[in-house]
Amino acid sequence: MQAAIDTMFVAAAEVADHSLVTMAYLVAGVLFILSLAGLSKQETASRGTWYGIVGMVIALCAAILSPEVTRYGVLAVAMVPAALIGGVLAARVQMTEMPQLVALLHSFVGAAAVLVGFASYLDPHMGMTTAEEMVHQIEVYIGICVGSVTLTGSIIACLKLDGRMSGKPLMLPGRHLLNLITLVVTVLIGIWFVSNAVSPDGIVIDASGVILLIVATVLTGVLGVHMVMAIGGADMPVVVSMLNSYSGWAAAAAGFMLGNDLLIITGALVGSSGAILSYIMCRGMNRSFASVILGGFGAAEGTVATGDGEQGEVIEISAEDTVDHMQSAKSVVIVPGYGMAVAQAQHALADLTKQLRDSGVTVRFAIHPVAGRLPGHMNVLLAEAGIPYDVVLEMDEINDDLPDTDVVLVIGANDIVNPGAEDDPTSPIAGMPVLQVWKSKLVVVMKRGMATGYAGVGNPLFFNDNTRMLFGDAKASVEAMLAGLRT
Ligand code: NDP
Repeated sequence: MQAAIDTMFVAAAEVADHSLVTMAYLVAGVLFILSLAGLSKQETASRGTWYGIVGMVIALCAAILSPEVTRYGVLAVAMVPAALIGGVLAARVQMTEMPQLVALLHSFVGAAAVLVGFASYLDPHMGMTTAEEMVHQIEVYIGICVGSVTLTGSIIACLKLDGRMSGKPLMLPGRHLLNLITLVVTVLIGIWFVSNAVSPDGIVIDASGVILLIVATVLTGVLGVHMVMAIGGADMPVVVSMLNSYSGWAAAAAGFMLGNDLLIITGALVGSSGAILSYIMCRGMNRSFASVILGGFGAAEGTVATGDGEQGEVIEISAEDTVDHMQSAKSVVIVPGYGMAVAQAQHALADLTKQLRDSGVTVRFAIHPVAGRLPGHMNVLLAEAGIPYDVVLEMDEINDDLPDTDVVLVIGANDIVNPGAEDDPTSPIAGMPVLQVWKSKLVVVMKRGMATGYAGVGNPLFFNDNTRMLFGDAKASVEAMLAGLRT
């Protein structure tokens, strides 16, 4: 009798544990959705981040305390060093290195999905029906393939964004055919693997299954490398958001393999929001997703544009003269780009903005969707420097106002203000919508020299009659302008 009561209590406790964990996962899932909604607007971004942090803490605690977890020692060995390394890395990373860190973190999700896939194959849930076994093996195979593409593709993206690998696209002869063959062979191996692993007597775990999984990992890994190597120049934003999406699907696949609802929800959220972001990035660059995936364009970043006869001479300007123009202007538009992030000029720029606004000049910021090296890169930096949100406008909101603008200050931006995208059908970035700064009365471009931007294409803007070049590090130039304003 006593034994039956004990068993009942243990079962009831387990049910309670499970429902608590499910409840915690549900709360975390809702918080993640609220977080995404918050992050969509600058005003609510900080709140969105907090929803995400709280959701993640709840999810972690629920996962650690769930009844399935019993070996806390093993968990501690995995988690403590990882948390320490992650904490130190995140604290040390410069804002300009964020894009490559994000790409690297995507590769970890891919690696986790591959490892979970192998573990799920080697240690499956027993007692499944044949249909369930088949679904499980398909999940394992897809999880490993998506994970492996994400892993290697993200490593290449990280190396490219870090400048350790050329941004130039790798154009192998017959590369589309190569990709297609890899894809078809991967599908065939998948069919072989699933039919090999599923039998009416239960799941078959053997060396040939492991070998097939290893071959699929290598094949899809090579596909990931090749796909990202072939994309270059200005198409990289789409690669970053695409890999973000892949990492979500890899996490969702891991969730299916582990039977973890929260991982499925979170993975689907990341996967679909990454896909939407890729679409937004493609629209921002007026490129179709297929054309981005099928091949990139552009030379390596930092290429020095050779001034041919057509381009002519540039006209230089000093920081003091720039200040004079800005002070006598009614309206000023500032266009930040990657160089502002490199120079960390946003705080000095915030001071300059304040001083100009205090003296009655209308100052607004124009943000191109692919400015910098990360979606939302410029918005984050401007928000960090305390620049009011209401003066930060998107490209579509401000482009029509540029002809009535007295001075446009282009700070460390290049590709996003290149008129060649509109006028020159042979330009590699032809068709990409750009900020039409050349339509304003005066454009001051702040950069260190005549190097090209990420897409590696020359910029005719620098040679226009109404363009002045303010050479030097962007932060030093803004500080010189501030000093000029004060005197
Ligand atoms: P660009 O890369 O076109 O240009 C940046 C410019 O900043 C360079 O020409 C460089 O010229 C200048 N610069 C660099 N350091 C400094 C400094 N310390 N002080 C002053 N100037 C500096 O940047 P944009 O923001 O205009 O365009 C973004 C590009 O990056 C697009 O091609 C986009 O497709 C791509 N990209 C965007 C991603 C995203 O998600 N947003 C991701 C990956 C790529 P100089 O060396 O002469 O100073």
